[in-house]
Amino acid sequence: MTAPEILQPQATELAALVQALHAEARPWLPAGQASRLGWGAAVTPPACTVVSSRALGRILEHNPGDFTIRVEAGTPLETVQQALGEQGQWLAVDRPWGSGALGGGSIGGLVARGLTGGYRQRYLGIRDQLIGIGLIRADGVSAKAGGQVVKNVAGYDLMRLFTGSWGSLGLITEVTLRTMPLPPQRSGLLVQGPLSQLTHLGEWLLGSSLTPERIDWWSPALAAAAGLAPQPLLLLGLASVDALTMAEQQAAIAAQTALACEVLTPERLGELLAVAGGGASPPPAWLLRLGVNPARAALLLAAPELQGIPLELGAGSGQGVVWARAPGDSQATAAPGALNPDQVANLRRRCLALGGHLMVLSQPEGSLLNAWEDAPSRALIERIKDQFDCLGQLAPGRLPGVAQPAGHPPGPHA
Ligand SMILES: Cc1cc2nc3c(=O)[nH]c(=O)nc-3n(C[C@H](O)[C@H](O)[C@H](O)COP(=O)(O)OP(=O)(O)OC[C@H]3O[C@@H](n4cnc5c(N)ncnc54)[C@H](O)[C@@H]3O)c2cc1C
Repeated sequence: MTAPEILQPQATELAALVQALHAEARPWLPAGQASRLGWGAAVTPPACTVVSSRALGRILEHNPGDFTIRVEAGTPLETVQQALGEQGQWLAVDRPWGSGALGGGSIGGLVARGLTGGYRQRYLGIRDQLIGIGLIRADGVSAKAGGQVVKNVAGYDLMRLFTGSWGSLGLITEVTLRTMPLPPQRSGLLVQGPLSQLTHLGEWLLGSSLTPERIDWWSPALAAAAGLAPQPLLLLGLASVDALTMAEQQAAIAAQTALACEVLTPERLGELLAVAGGGASPPPAWLLRLGVNPARAALLLAAPELQGIPLELGAGSGQGVVWARAPGDSQATAAPGALNPDQVANLRRRCLALGGHLMVLSQPEGSLLNAWEDAPSRALIERIKDQFDCLGQLAPGRLPGVAQPAGHPPGPHA
């Protein structure tokens, strides 16, 4: 496969470059650090030009008193977290899956993918933290919306529209985000045991007045990958203003279950989250994102399709988001220890039956599952795409919420 051409224009060159691409009606893919271009639905042609925002790497403005930060889209997430940390603040988002091997990616990529992890339990998703956006449309026209408004585009809430747009509507050039104070006290609680008892505890937590930062479910396979007993587990992230209140939270939770609750230091919690986020290993054959009703995350873990297959599941139960990874092959009959497309198709049916969905972010070569199913709003999504990108230049073939026909060739790989 031909490698895509990656252009890295300076901020001052960007508009002219996009206008030139428009004049030629050339297909191109907006990008950040280009760390995860091939994940999800394929782009055609696979070698279409990539326009990276890597040169847009400045923190433009941080107002600690207002809890806002304005950054250029290509800025690495780590750079932003480090700068905020020096002021006792942070962006309340998880490190993206695969950060150990691929890096955390850019802020623009985070917004363009719109994906979240366990911190969503308490802090909601990236789209809820986004208060302003700057972008370049396919025709080279720049626009801004929300906080730090220079020119607004009436009619659409551009921040939410571009969150999860996967590069299909325009190139994000800058974003303004809400920041949070770093909690003075943090700890973790690890509870392992039978799913029925964990479910009871999880349900109690969701209805309690406690506000954990995360309530993550792990499958036995993921627990084993972290060197723990191969049993389901609940991993809680707790935050508090002082040590006394933290101890009270831990005691209140422990009082609700007969299972042992292991208190984790922030460092140990971080180590376990790194394992759930893929560690330093190269991306696996299968990487899936499952969305289910929050109360049904445990039901998913109990699904017959999942038993006996090496699927490592980590779920932020409060929001019903589940990350799953597995080794695999593209054959209907899986090699021992591997997951096959039929099993993933069954799993998708199970998610749909539970009122949820399954997104295929990565699959073995030769496997041709749709990255996502058609969203009920497909017609609306296509009309919006036409308005933003009338020549169909951006991320051609990939439109979130619009299924591609089976047999579509694979997209570019970073
Ligand atoms: C908990 C968690 C888990 C995640 N897991 C995954 C995962 O498994 N797979 C995954 O792909 N992502 C995942 N993400 C999203 C992840 O944040 C982004 O993929 C990552 O930030 C990509 O950064 P990048 O700069 O390398 O983007 P790139 O690899 O360059 O691009 C990624 C996507 O974003 C678009 N894009 C990037 N920058 C821009 C921009 N400036 N304007 C418009 N579009 C742009 C690209 O077109 C492409 O579709 C996860 C996020 C979280 C919080």
